[in-house]
Amino acid sequence: MRQWIDKVLRQKGLLGQIFRKTRRSYLGAFQSEYVEKSIVENRKGECHRCGRCCELVIKCPFLGKDAEDLPYCRIYGELRPANCRIYPFDAIDSEIDECGFRF
Ligand code: SF4
Repeated sequence: MRQWIDKVLRQKGLLGQIFRKTRRSYLGAFQSEYVEKSIVENRKGECHRCGRCCELVIKCPFLGKDAEDLPYCRIYGELRPANCRIYPFDAIDSEIDECGFRF
């Protein structure tokens, strides 16, 4: 069972996205020390606002486009969900090739 879950977590498709999003929610809520440590110690690079992470599983209803057609979060700040704040927090979570963050 564990091997199957690990395999799905590495799949690019919708099932993999759902598993990673569930993992992100779980670890963000119950193992936040691991998440924060991984971000501080392992994450390199920066967000370049491609907006791709806002379309994982479903397109976020708060995803907007600015005057230059760049994506932006309409609730950026205190209201931004925890799942969005920590993306991506480790190599498994980092599923978008174009993302500016690397592990
Ligand atoms: S996928 Fe990466 S670079 Fe693109 S908006 Fe999300 S965090 Fe930023």
